[in-house]
Amino acid sequence: MADVNNTKAYPGDIAIECSKVRKCGWKGMESDMASVPHKTMKGAMQRICPKCGCDSYYRRDTGCAT
Ligand SMILES: [Zn+2]
Repeated sequence: MADVNNTKAYPGDIAIECSKVRKCGWKGMESDMASVPHKTMKGAMQRICPKCGCDSYYRRDTGCAT
């Protein structure tokens, strides 16, 4: 599990991990998530875990911003 992307693709990109920590364990940047049409909001997009498709995630606090 060494391939965790921590590089911001744009200012404001955040480090996250899938909320299914045990089942999935995916970690990366918000920009790495898959974009799909929103379940309930017509015309809107939402981001999901690229590994398991879960639509909720946690922020990973890196602690330093260098
Ligand atoms: Zn996941």
